[in-house]
Amino acid sequence: MARLAQTAGLTDVQQEILSTVRDFVDKEIIPVATELEHRDEYPQQIVDGLKELGLFGLMIPEEYGGLGESLLTYALCVEEIARGWMSVSGIINTHFIVAYMLKQHGTQEQKEHFLPRMAAGDVRGAFSMSEPGLGSDVSAITSKAVKDGDEYVLNGQKMWLTNGGTSSLVAVLVRSDEGHSPEEAAAKPHKSMTTFLVEKEPGFGEVRPGLTIPGKIDKMGYKGVDTTELIMDDLRVPADRVLGGVTGRGFYQMMDGVEVGRVNVAARGCGVAQRAFELGVRYAQQRHTFGKPIAQHQAIQFKLAEMATKVEAAHAMMVNAARKKDSGERNDLEAGMAKYLASEYCKEVVEDAFRIHGGYGFSKEYEIERLYREAPMLLIGEGTAEIQKMIIGRRLLEEYRFQG
Ligand SMILES: Cc1cc2nc3c(=O)[nH]c(=O)nc-3n(C[C@H](O)[C@H](O)[C@H](O)COP(=O)(O)OP(=O)(O)OC[C@H]3O[C@@H](n4cnc5c(N)ncnc54)[C@H](O)[C@@H]3O)c2cc1C
Repeated sequence: MARLAQTAGLTDVQQEILSTVRDFVDKEIIPVATELEHRDEYPQQIVDGLKELGLFGLMIPEEYGGLGESLLTYALCVEEIARGWMSVSGIINTHFIVAYMLKQHGTQEQKEHFLPRMAAGDVRGAFSMSEPGLGSDVSAITSKAVKDGDEYVLNGQKMWLTNGGTSSLVAVLVRSDEGHSPEEAAAKPHKSMTTFLVEKEPGFGEVRPGLTIPGKIDKMGYKGVDTTELIMDDLRVPADRVLGGVTGRGFYQMMDGVEVGRVNVAARGCGVAQRAFELGVRYAQQRHTFGKPIAQHQAIQFKLAEMATKVEAAHAMMVNAARKKDSGERNDLEAGMAKYLASEYCKEVVEDAFRIHGGYGFSKEYEIERLYREAPMLLIGEGTAEIQKMIIGRRLLEEYRFQG
């Protein structure tokens, strides 16, 4: 029988990369993930291993020292890693988005300055749009940059930075109303935002004059990876650290980054769902009730059938979204659908695997307990289900415009 979530048409190189990553996940991540997660411990040894495998430079072009691989290869690696431990895929994801934004939108000097060190994993990226008062509504950003000679002075508070402490480069989206009257800026908020490339020391406290990372936010799941706030208090950033060298393009640059990030979150959902299925199907054959393995009760078999079908469907949509982007076409519809479906299915598959475990699913000794606390994050990160449906709905109305 074919295993679940196979991908047709991969090159030999893609297959080799995936088999190396899968092997790494089975040997180096799965055996330690739950213990590290319960201690909320940063998986330094795993991160060092990923660095050695070259995963931090997977999609960075070869001319900058990366592997120059496609979004599909990246997404399939993320799926494997999330199958082992979702937090590890979170450590790579913001790095990947920032590297992608630099590759697509950076000046030549910015690419040469950052990408080789990012490919080596020596500079690690975080990206920051959300603030305490907003997440979905990015146009409401209040953090602000004001020009002062050859520098910009940034003020404001950011929220929910994945890798906020461990990163050394943060792509920060702020308002910069340069060249606009306050009325114009209010009417066209998307056109008055700028992405700044802010270098800093890893760690907590004042990590650069005017920039404070207060500490880790205590979360219900997605532990190990640090999630932080970021406070800018007269933070001075040179004008050549405006992404792409021109102000007012930040919103579009960030949305481009988030679009590939959505394929990544879909891939995480696929990986976590696969692991939940593996745990459920194994436990169902070990646990006996009423004289037979519970897998022999039709109700449990039906659950397994539903779980496997969801794993397959989510994988197919995620692969489709990645391939569309790789072909150079717009993929916002496919990425939105894949992210929406994969995160909802992930939550459902994890819940079913949890139910199959009976009372033991509630015990911290069983891996499914961790997955149960991890899956909800995927419903929120890179845009909630409602936001995905808004994107999908808008695109459908463009494609199927009524010509009455
Ligand atoms: C663990 C974690 C890590 C994160 N990492 C990052 C990061 O690295 N960088 C970053 O910038 N952000 C990050 N985020 C923030 C994340 O992107 C936001 O939490 C998310 O976009 C939702 O925003 P919000 O929390 O402000 O919810 P809100 O926008 O306040 O939404 C609240 C609810 O209202 C719904 N809603 C909002 N608007 C509408 C509408 N128009 N129609 C219908 N329903 C609506 C939402 O779907 C949601 O159910 C992270 C979040 C978490 C939890």
